[in-house]
Amino acid sequence: MTVRVRIAPSPTGNLHIGTARTAVFNWLFARNQEGTFILRVEDTDQERSRSEYTENIKSGLTWLGLDWDEGPFFQTQRLDLYRQAIQALLDKGCAYRCYCTSEELEQMREAQKAKNQAPRYDNRHRHLTEEQRQALEAEGRKAVIRFIIDDHREIVWNDVIRGKVVWKGSDLGGDMVIARIPETDEQTFGQPLYNLAVVVDDIDMKITHVIRGEDHIANTAKQILLYEALGATIPEFAHSPLILNQEGRKLSKRDGVTSIDDFRKMGFLPDALVNYMTLLGWTAPDSTQEIFTLAEAATQFTLDRVNKAGAKFDWDKLDWLNSQYLHKMPANELVELVIPYWQEAGYEVNLKSDRPWLEQMAALIGPSLTRLSDAPKESHLLFGETVTYSEEAMAQIEQEGVKDILKAVLDSTEKVSELTEEMAQEIIKEVTKTFKVKKGLIMRSLRAGLMGELHGPDLIQSWLLLNHKGWDKTRLQGVLS
Ligand code: GLU
Repeated sequence: MTVRVRIAPSPTGNLHIGTARTAVFNWLFARNQEGTFILRVEDTDQERSRSEYTENIKSGLTWLGLDWDEGPFFQTQRLDLYRQAIQALLDKGCAYRCYCTSEELEQMREAQKAKNQAPRYDNRHRHLTEEQRQALEAEGRKAVIRFIIDDHREIVWNDVIRGKVVWKGSDLGGDMVIARIPETDEQTFGQPLYNLAVVVDDIDMKITHVIRGEDHIANTAKQILLYEALGATIPEFAHSPLILNQEGRKLSKRDGVTSIDDFRKMGFLPDALVNYMTLLGWTAPDSTQEIFTLAEAATQFTLDRVNKAGAKFDWDKLDWLNSQYLHKMPANELVELVIPYWQEAGYEVNLKSDRPWLEQMAALIGPSLTRLSDAPKESHLLFGETVTYSEEAMAQIEQEGVKDILKAVLDSTEKVSELTEEMAQEIIKEVTKTFKVKKGLIMRSLRAGLMGELHGPDLIQSWLLLNHKGWDKTRLQGVLS
């Protein structure tokens, strides 16, 4: 059997973290099994679907490295297929037209509520006679197509992640609507609804494993009934745990981020984010291993190592992973990713002439970054912003003899057009000799004078970067004046 799996997002919003994580599990499973990963866009809800969301979903999956083998397929281009299935269900007597008005359905719900019963459709139009049907149509009522759900059925499946799952037919809310008939097009059953379209597509696309979030469990019970009615082979189902926030509730907009775009803008790297999502609910056979590429994870991925319990979203862990990826990234790559953040912070960068300078800057700040968005804060002094001197730094500068030392450094620096690392070392050596002081004192004083702090990234590198724009001289002059 060749494994065929799919991700089936609805383009009613940007690529969501939950959908992306489902895509990760599907992708890993497909790659592990040398199967096929399909992208299907579930756009039958035409009012809420938008093409820019489809684009966002595609670019988000691509950004994360989740390439698909077939598709994107669009449900709106496959309406004929759903209509054939609906007709087949009507012909077999598995489905019927229901003419209830929204007021009637509302009354039904109110009556059930008054009796403390769960809301459900009471199947009242299941057995209409031809005359009753015609009479209702003569009233100008519009029908929906409902699929018969036997209250006495027990639906059982062996979920690959959760084991045996049992649902009672009576808990599925009565006969379910599978299509609406739009006024403009009465013969076509116009709009198929989610459960019907999913099943028809999964059958047509020969999906072997449906891997999706556990919020779809009740749908699975309904869908199994549809597979049976359509005489199709039922695929394996694997319901993955939801992503929870720190309070143990489903991660939502209130937690500040939901879409992959949000994470990108916050300065997470795709490799780190996708690595983190892999760990959200899955444990590698070697449970101590936490850093891996998608391809590495794919060699080890099995569904039986996906947890049943909800997966708590852990920002510290994501930050930690992101920093691991940032710290090992070569400066020539990092600089490209950091430039937009510098530009957004308002720093003037000339992408041509400043390029080597910017790359050195990236190399210098790389080890202090947790997110790309930290770049402006970690480098603002190297971009010549006015220094606020800390008390410690002031005390260092005010120490006896320190200003003379800084003056000597400044004088030597002014003699060279552009400082190199060797020259910088030479200047420090000379000044050490002249003043007969320890190198440490000079380094501390110079750091205080140039950066206004006694701690920070490599001093010589910082100095070289400032020197490129002449800001080292301006700062030392400022301190000495
Ligand atoms: N369109 C559904 C969703 O986005 C797909 C669910 C499924 O995978 O069947 O949740």
